[in-house]
Amino acid sequence: MTEDNTPAVGIDLGTTYSAVAYIDDTGRPITLVNAEGDLVTPSVVLFEGDLAVVGKEALKAIATEAEHVAQCAKRELGDRTFHKPLLGRKYPPEALQAFVLNKLRQDAARQIGDFKKVVITVPAYFDEVRRKATQDAGYMAGFEVLDIINEPTAAAIAHGFLKGFLNKQGESNAPRKLLVYDLGGGTFDVTVMEIRGNEFLALATDGDVQLGGQDFDMRLVDYVAQEFMRTYQLDPREDPNTAGRLWRECEDAKRTLSARAKVSISCDYKSQATRVEVTREKFEELTQDLLNRTQFTTKQTLQAAGLTWNDLDYVLLVGGSTRMPMVAKMLRQLSGKEPDASVAVDEAVAHGAALHAGIILARNRGEAPSVVVRNVNSHSLGVVATDARTQRKRNAILIPRNTALPVTARRVFRTQNAGQQSILVRIVEGESATPADCTPIGRCVVRDLPRDLPAQTPIEVRFSYQENGRLTVHVSVAGTQHELKHELARDNTLTQEQLDAWRLYILGQQAEQPEVTDDYKPMEEGGSGSITM
Ligand code: ADP
Ligand code: MG
Repeated sequence: MTEDNTPAVGIDLGTTYSAVAYIDDTGRPITLVNAEGDLVTPSVVLFEGDLAVVGKEALKAIATEAEHVAQCAKRELGDRTFHKPLLGRKYPPEALQAFVLNKLRQDAARQIGDFKKVVITVPAYFDEVRRKATQDAGYMAGFEVLDIINEPTAAAIAHGFLKGFLNKQGESNAPRKLLVYDLGGGTFDVTVMEIRGNEFLALATDGDVQLGGQDFDMRLVDYVAQEFMRTYQLDPREDPNTAGRLWRECEDAKRTLSARAKVSISCDYKSQATRVEVTREKFEELTQDLLNRTQFTTKQTLQAAGLTWNDLDYVLLVGGSTRMPMVAKMLRQLSGKEPDASVAVDEAVAHGAALHAGIILARNRGEAPSVVVRNVNSHSLGVVATDARTQRKRNAILIPRNTALPVTARRVFRTQNAGQQSILVRIVEGESATPADCTPIGRCVVRDLPRDLPAQTPIEVRFSYQENGRLTVHVSVAGTQHELKHELARDNTLTQEQLDAWRLYILGQQAEQPEVTDDYKPMEEGGSGSITM
């Protein structure tokens, strides 16, 4: 295939549902249906012997074969293995994501022919480790990942396209500011953006990777289970298949409550059965605290962007859970504006990703970019250093959160002891001053320092943080030839050999499933020499 007819494809790899879109001949984003004929595919994998079944059938199997089903692997990206073994086997979460991507690729190829290049989206709040894991999932599924972009940015691009801001006339429009509120199945994400001509700038972003529609479902599950226990002194949640069936019932009931004022949920277990009626009012009461958490984060993010509600031109709704009427009601009260859901809430992200893929492919052909995206980092990045005064380890931040990317930042530290042989620079992500409360993302070691190096020798640490959330670190030691530059050595990702083995296995070119071990390959320590700030 030549570069020129490479289709522009974008994938919204969601926690609970995924979608694929491409750009058609007229330049418009179109969602591709899957083999079952649906616009969205459940991000669920069922293992049956050597077969991995993805999507609707896997979701259904939660009611009968819960033990063999993997859901919400996206929530566990960054962990070594998925929390539950399947058919006695362990999987890295990114491999489970790769099974989902592989199905999406095969189903899309039936309509647009084989393709490899894609843009995959991630929550803006994803840290560096989870972005890398997502990129790896794309690789294992046989893709060449053109870029990883933030879901709210993608949604804003899709919205901008629909509203015509992206055409030539649109570019002269006054800048507009918007807030993207994305409540999906497993994650919540809020981002404040500014569209200036053809530039999309993120001003501030925040979110919660452990909050989404499924938490709302669980409130219904618990409510029904408690009613059941009151009658029968039996907990239907203790059996995984019954719990799975009850969850499916409750998720369905939740959707009904978005359209109707009440719903009746049935639950049967060990030959006992009950029906529980739930009104929309009751449901809203059961989940009020979850909604409040999104409200709190939304206010904070607006404040972090230095704006008030009056500064915003609109509030964009994204994600299936924004169909719950209480979401729009809360945002209407908060913002005094009518929230906008004009781009289908579960297609907007995939559409924006496809538009972004189209922009990258055009740029690779030498065309001028039609849209420019500017991101901010969602977590502070720093290094662990010893506080000279207190002798305590501290997180010394180099790049504070919500800094516009790309950015380069430097900070000077000092060697701790005279004749120190090596320097260990541990890179962490997080807001806390205590390193233990931050996420370790990697380390650099400078070895074989001159024996006569005095204590307090300056060490410069420089971070270059790219648009796509990838970090490069330079360490240089004053008065020596030591200069170290590398993409991080990571504590918690698969090796290239492991990635290749999984890629062959997932693409069906190798029968043997790659070995998964829980034990960390201990990072080459070599340097334990502290640095002080
Ligand atoms: P993600 O991107 O996190 O996978 P989506 O944006 O696809 O999530 O949203 C999926 C969530 O939306 C699920 O929790 C689902 O139950 C919920 N959802 C979908 N439609 C409705 C509806 N009509 N009312 C309430 N919730 C809904
Ligand atoms: Mg989503």
